[in-house]
Amino acid sequence: AKKYDGNAHVYYEEELTTAIKRTFQIKNVLQQVDFYEVLSVHYQSIIDLKTDKVVGAEALLRFETAELGKVSPAEFIPVAEKHGLIMKIGEWVLKRACIDMKPIVLTNASFKLAVNVSIQQLEDKTFSDRVKTILKETNYPAENLVLEVTEETSISDSTKVRNTLNTLGKTGITVAIDDFGTGYSSLEKLHELHVHQLKIDQSFIRDLDKTTAIVRAIIAMGKSLDLAIVAEGVETKKQLDFLKGTTCDFVQGYYFSRPVSLDDFIKE
Ligand code: C2E
Ligand code: CA
Ligand code: CA
Ligand code: CA
Repeated sequence: AKKYDGNAHVYYEEELTTAIKRTFQIKNVLQQVDFYEVLSVHYQSIIDLKTDKVVGAEALLRFETAELGKVSPAEFIPVAEKHGLIMKIGEWVLKRACIDMKPIVLTNASFKLAVNVSIQQLEDKTFSDRVKTILKETNYPAENLVLEVTEETSISDSTKVRNTLNTLGKTGITVAIDDFGTGYSSLEKLHELHVHQLKIDQSFIRDLDKTTAIVRAIIAMGKSLDLAIVAEGVETKKQLDFLKGTTCDFVQGYYFSRPVSLDDFIKE
C-alpha cells in the first residue's frame, strides 16, 4: 500500500536526489588533483592451504572523507570507471601497493601482491607500459605481482584486452581471473588467454552446501589447465575443511583476516 502513498513517493524522490548528489560528490572528489588524499589501500592475507602460511596479499582500495564517510569500492569504482578516472586511480593504487609491499618481498621472495584492474585499464593501449614503468620506478619484481581481472573482463572479445593480457603475461606478471564462476568462460577461452590463476567467486564458498559439485568442478577444470586456484570469502572452519579436502591451492577470507591497514598487516 505504501507504494501508492503520496508521502512515500516524495520520500523516494528525496532518496534518489540524495543518491545522485552523493555520486556527484564522489566524482568531484576523485577529479581533484589530490584525489589520493581520500584513498588508502588495505591488505588482505592470502594463505597457502598446504602450509597455512601467508603467501600473499590482495590490495583493496578504501575511500573516506569527513563529508561522505566511508565509501565502499563497490560504490566508487563504478563512478570512477564511468567518468574516466579509473586509469589514474588504478596507477595510484598499483604504485602505492608496490611501495608498501616491497619490504615484505625483500624478506620473502615468493610473496605475491595482488592488485585489481578494471576493464578500462586493460583496454588502454598504454597500460602494460605504464605497469612496467611503475615496476621500474618502485623497483618491484614482476614475478611478485598478480593482476586480478574479473571473469567478465577476461572473456571480453576486445582484442585490446587480449593484447594487454598477453603482453603483461610475458613480463612475468601473474594474471588471475577474479570472481570466477559468475561469467560464462569456456575452457577454450581460458586456454587461449595468458592466465595463471583462478579465484573462485565468494558466492560459491558462501553457499557451499549447494555448490559443492560446482566448486569441485571448477577446481578440477582449473587444475587441468595448470592454473593455481584461490578460494575467496572463506569465513568458517567448515568451508576451510572442505577446501583442504580438494586440490585448491590458496584461500582468502574473514576466517583468516579482514583487509587491514599496512601497519596492521605488517603486525599480523
Ligand atoms: P573483489 O576483488 O572480489 O574483492 C573481494 C571483496 O570481498 C573485498 O570487498 C573484500 O573485502 C571482501 N571479502 C574478503 N573476504 C571476505 C569474506 O570472508 N567474506 C565476505 N563477505 N567478504 C569478503 P571490498 O574491499 O569491498 O571490494 C569490493 C570490490 O571492489 C572488489 O571485489 C573489487 O572488484 C573492487 N575493488 C577494490 N579495490 C579495487 C582497486 O584497487 N581497483 C579496482 N579496479 N577495483 C577494486
Ligand atoms: Ca579481487
Ligand atoms: Ca573476487
Ligand atoms: Ca567482486
